[in-house]
Amino acid sequence: MPRPNKRSRSLRRVHVRVPSGKSRLVYKPRSPKKPACSGCGMILQAVPNKLVSKMRNMPKSQKRPERIFGGELCSRCTKNKLKKINREKWQNQT
Ligand SMILES: [Zn+2]
Repeated sequence: MPRPNKRSRSLRRVHVRVPSGKSRLVYKPRSPKKPACSGCGMILQAVPNKLVSKMRNMPKSQKRPERIFGGELCSRCTKNKLKKINREKWQNQT
């Protein structure tokens, strides 16, 4: 019987081959949810859903697209947002 804290399904169970050749059950944390667009909820492309320990060592350019609202809004919502911002800017000028 595994330890009480290992009985929950919040950790995933992975069979790992150890150097002796035997297979051993190892408990690993699940990867976080895939990041989604805050406008429409679509899953964002080019944004990894890795553990915090892996994300910390990753270059910033690999964590999100390098454009305005990158990693926050999808490309379609970014386009619409920029249109909206520019139209409001022009309306206020005239
Ligand atoms: Zn969107």
